[in-house]
Amino acid sequence: MTSLATASRARLWLNPALRASASWQPDPDFGVDAISEAQQRFARFAPLLANLFPELGAEGRIESPLLPLSDDERHALYGDLPGNFYIKADHALPIAGSIKARGGIHEVLELAEKVAGEHNLLDTGDYTTLASDAARAVFSQYSISVGSTGNLGMSIGIMASALGFTARVHMSSDAKEWKKARLRARGVEVIEHAGDYAAAVASGRDSAANDPKAFFVDDENSRSLFLGYAAAIYHLQEQLRQADIEVGPHAPLFAYLPCGVGGAPAGIASSLKAAFGDDAHCFFVEPVAAACFLTRMQHPSRPGISVYDVGLDNRTDADGLAVPAASELAYEQMRHVLSGVLTVEDETLFADVYRVHQSMGIRLEPSAAAAISGPRMLLSTAEGQRYLRTHGLDGDLAQATHLLWTTGGLFVPDDAFEGFLERGRQAV
Ligand SMILES: *Cc1c(COP(=O)(O)O)cnc(C)c1O
Repeated sequence: MTSLATASRARLWLNPALRASASWQPDPDFGVDAISEAQQRFARFAPLLANLFPELGAEGRIESPLLPLSDDERHALYGDLPGNFYIKADHALPIAGSIKARGGIHEVLELAEKVAGEHNLLDTGDYTTLASDAARAVFSQYSISVGSTGNLGMSIGIMASALGFTARVHMSSDAKEWKKARLRARGVEVIEHAGDYAAAVASGRDSAANDPKAFFVDDENSRSLFLGYAAAIYHLQEQLRQADIEVGPHAPLFAYLPCGVGGAPAGIASSLKAAFGDDAHCFFVEPVAAACFLTRMQHPSRPGISVYDVGLDNRTDADGLAVPAASELAYEQMRHVLSGVLTVEDETLFADVYRVHQSMGIRLEPSAAAAISGPRMLLSTAEGQRYLRTHGLDGDLAQATHLLWTTGGLFVPDDAFEGFLERGRQAV
């Protein structure tokens, strides 16, 4: 187990502004109809995606498995804690190897659809023609750029360059070398910045601002990313049905979502609330040093507040979550929806990377292991007990479903992963 000093800095914070779903309506721009449009866009592009990325199979679906934890696996992670535990395996999402495959690819597809429409490339309605030389020649006149700590760059860069767009990724100093190398190998231009993630985003935004043929994917403020993440609900509902998992007033669903800027977990949390209302309980998980969403939630009157403003340093090896300030868009959608935020020390992330690999053979990156802390914090802290009591759930824990949303790891190279395991072995 982690040392006391380490553990005592991690915490669970409950959202005092959480409202019952009957008393809160989501902004229609982010509601069920909008999420369904994103899902339909993925479906329209599926034949093209199947052609471009053979790893998707004939259906061209970008989806991940839902993996039940066996008794032994559950015991290895949670001892005797009650409930049913599932990994929602976005760490294995194809193309990008992280949850960013959902939002990032959706936004590139939306941009491609727009450009294709303006150039009459879709008049036949056959999306596979977008892989033709003629279509690629059109796309190559446009650039798509993004600022990223790594994973969003991989998703946007790989998808944009696969369609023939000029793809540019602005990366922060904490981005890992192997991610840069992988992008360059795919023909993506990587621009490195000395500063943090927010600085990389700002320079990407500036350099695209004056060019009508330049698109900038704004991780801090993108409806398209948000909706691409939210569309995960359709396949998840199918998976829950197939696994006979009931969600209801006496069978709560708890979701633990690793959070960086907040777009991915907010998209998913919105869709879970749309599907299950008050029976879904969504918690974000952040590194202690990069708890930007928690900071924003704790300061409702201070848009733009960063972790530096509250004495944190944003230093974490969970590079997918190393973000100093929350997305305002995500914050607005989550204010009354999110049950709480929990923070974890880096050593706990590495320990969980190790435990998950030992017990299940699954390769997670440290950011993705954040989800694993969720049930421990909810079920075995005083704040967690208070949440369960307040919501009348303490009698329903045996029927509860815990969704551990693992968000990245598929493409971590062997030597980097060995390093994670070594550090994790020492932390358990
Ligand atoms: C980006 C990312 C997240 C969180 O997504 P945000 O939209 O930044 O909150 C979680 N896990 C991994 C591995 C990521 O790359």
